[in-house]
Amino acid sequence: MDTLPVPVRVLPSIESPVYAFDPDRKQYYSTKILRYIVNSHSDSALRTIGITAVDLFIPILTYVFGEAQLDGKAAIVSGARLKQEYYGLKPDKRLYVERLFKELMHELGHTFGLTHCDLSYCVMHLSNNVIGIDKKTAAFCENHKDQLINKLKELEIPYGK
Ligand SMILES: [Zn+2]
Ligand SMILES: [Zn+2]
Repeated sequence: MDTLPVPVRVLPSIESPVYAFDPDRKQYYSTKILRYIVNSHSDSALRTIGITAVDLFIPILTYVFGEAQLDGKAAIVSGARLKQEYYGLKPDKRLYVERLFKELMHELGHTFGLTHCDLSYCVMHLSNNVIGIDKKTAAFCENHKDQLINKLKELEIPYGK
């Protein structure tokens, strides 16, 4: 990964998170899935991030693209609303992967203690919709990059290639 050069291990996929399904909203409660991921986190890994196809929510919001433990071990990202098809548009795999990557970097940033950024190009900028995601880049601004490097140093993870 270019913007966060740490090794990635892909874990086997798990069952759909039925325990988090809310029949009234017909969506999945993000925090419950996050808790599940926290509990299955192995200390042999630095962070664990889940990717799901189901649509996520938290009670105060209509939907969320993802959720993370701030300065914690785990995060979750949903691809549901990152697909063009969701908006009745023609599928675009490249765009989907790009959005997913940005959201993964964003949530991972939170797990390393990073908070939201005012700079519209920084990956830590809060995006409420895909237009916002498309506007920002997958990279951390200088300030957030410094914070990330310091955090990785603290964890004794060498940053860079
Ligand atoms: Zn965020
Ligand atoms: Zn930033």
